Amino acid sequence: MRIGVIALQGDFREHLELLALLGWQGVAVKEPSHLVGLDGLVFPGGESTTQCILSEASGLRQPLATEVRSGLPVLGTCAGLIMLARTIIGGRADQWSYEVLDVTVMRNGFGRQVRSFEADIAVRGLETPMRAIFIRAPVITQVGEKVETLASVRYQFVDGASREVPVVVAGGSIIATSFHPEVSRDPRLHELAFTR
Ligand code: GLN
Repeated sequence: MRIGVIALQGDFREHLELLALLGWQGVAVKEPSHLVGLDGLVFPGGESTTQCILSEASGLRQPLATEVRSGLPVLGTCAGLIMLARTIIGGRADQWSYEVLDVTVMRNGFGRQVRSFEADIAVRGLETPMRAIFIRAPVITQVGEKVETLASVRYQFVDGASREVPVVVAGGSIIATSFHPEVSRDPRLHELAFTR
């Protein structure tokens, strides 16, 4: 298995380490020529606004748009989820996304850095709970008809309201999380994304 990790910004090294743990070949994708012969792609966490700028600068935006629409298996985590989402709330004016996953995400929707948190969550398809680390994470506010919610978390927002929020979603060949499985070093969603 040969999986590309978009390596422009963010925690791509953690993803590459997890892929190595699975015995797979991880490819750091920094330019279009690195996209040849991949079985899947990972969009890592980090800062989506910066990832937008660097995707343009590296010439990756157009070839990546083609790849993610081609049915290639894709896993996106946190900022990676934002990069794949159909609609972004709270994005910078010039922010764009690949619009291939029919969800709406609100950037930093769980609050600021101080509101970062961890939780054990049950994920459909996994036998035991997964440790989920949320760092300035996006909130999925809307899920399209053809998108399946694989996990959700009950969260009390700053205004006191408590709501069940989707945190792992699957649509077509794409799985995305609002947390960081690469930081808790749990490879099961990578397995699910690329071997289902
Ligand atoms: N808040 C970041 C963004 O908007 C995402 C944070 C993360 O990936 N941990 O891109």
